[in-house]
Amino acid sequence: MADRETANGQVGLVQAFVNSVDLQDGPEELSDPAHLGAWLTAHGLLEAGAGVEPADLKHAVGLREALRGLIGANSGGKVYPIDVATLNEAATASRLRARFGSDGRARLEPEAGGVTGALGRIVAATFAAMDDEDWARLKLCGSPTCRWAFFDRSRNHSSRWCAMASCGNRAKARRFREQHAAHA
Ligand SMILES: [Zn+2]
Repeated sequence: MADRETANGQVGLVQAFVNSVDLQDGPEELSDPAHLGAWLTAHGLLEAGAGVEPADLKHAVGLREALRGLIGANSGGKVYPIDVATLNEAATASRLRARFGSDGRARLEPEAGGVTGALGRIVAATFAAMDDEDWARLKLCGSPTCRWAFFDRSRNHSSRWCAMASCGNRAKARRFREQHAAHA
């Protein structure tokens, strides 16, 4: 949808990964191992031509949905232990460790290679994103069938829908119908 806002930097990378599927209308960008490999390569997380197994796809989708749950906490949801466990598993599997770059700045980098390492880079991006004031603006759409990760650019951080024109108006129409049914 054209009017959905996107974030920049590490917050933007996490957002793009979570939004690699549109739960409501499709498409699913991570539809098979080859598409997962292409997505990770296109985002600079995996070397081109690296092998991608069906188990990698399962881990990637699991991590993506755990991140979606985590972002839900930014819009008033609770943090679920299963999501926390999945994030910790991805961090452990990729063997993230602190590395100082030539610029003197520390970052987390995976020791593991392949898709496991690439997913570790997404966990590292999440770690860095949480230090960014933009993180709190990354929220989940309030529509239970949408759950798109949107970037809230509103002045007082009060947006509830990924796009007013679609999910916002659908919610308003639903409220209107419910109120009229109650008075009938
Ligand atoms: Zn939405």
